[in-house]
Amino acid sequence: MQLIPLPAFSDNYIWLLHDAQHALVVDPGAAQPVLDALQQRGLQLDAILVTHHHPDHTGGVAALREATQAKVFGPARELMPEPLTRLKDGDSVPSLGLNFKVIDVPGHTAGHIAYYCAEVNEVPLLFCGDTLFSAGCGRLFEGSPAQMLASLDALAALPEATRVCCAHEYTLSNLAFAAAVEPNNQAIVEYSAKARSLRLKQLPTLPSTLLLERQVNPFLRTREASVIAAVRGFDATAIDEVGIFAALRQWKDQS
Ligand code: ZN
Ligand code: FE
Repeated sequence: MQLIPLPAFSDNYIWLLHDAQHALVVDPGAAQPVLDALQQRGLQLDAILVTHHHPDHTGGVAALREATQAKVFGPARELMPEPLTRLKDGDSVPSLGLNFKVIDVPGHTAGHIAYYCAEVNEVPLLFCGDTLFSAGCGRLFEGSPAQMLASLDALAALPEATRVCCAHEYTLSNLAFAAAVEPNNQAIVEYSAKARSLRLKQLPTLPSTLLLERQVNPFLRTREASVIAAVRGFDATAIDEVGIFAALRQWKDQS
């Protein structure tokens, strides 16, 4: 099984997973990069998995369905290009001989879902759209801080070896903020150097792993003393778990 991030727009990735014959894609904001990749590799597109309704994740769905007859899967509670199979927490999507479990992760949008497969080439795999980014998380456009914190907690509870496939290349800017929050976190320093050298070669920093994200991602570290202290320096009124998370997100939005 091959996993490939197809770059789209300025910083999106459309994830392509294939077995040399059949393929699925996640969040095709544009059709052409996918059609090119399918043609180059002689692949048939079986399934299109969508995490949320934003145009940079759905813009290519209609044209791809038309060109390939692929089946479309997406969130139950969002406005989506029809027809599609609507999914909610606990549902599963069989594709490429694999089974993807649906996890509700509201926050970035109200009905955002993630797709988790326990074993792809013997490693767990997560497609998390705009919920979890490497060293960051999505903006809260439609959900509350409490919802997003619960969603990130659900993802963080997956096995540490899980490969994290995010929909945007935001790693370097997220790491700059992470370093401002935790200047003494050595894992952030090391990952920043590695991510910089990858980006200089125009290579993706993704997929990440949950093990790494737990070490460097401030939004998965809001119960760490170092993060709590830094957030209180930004907003002294942040008290409980949700308050700390909300203030951290606000700090990032302003930085
Ligand atoms: Zn989005
Ligand atoms: Fe997006």
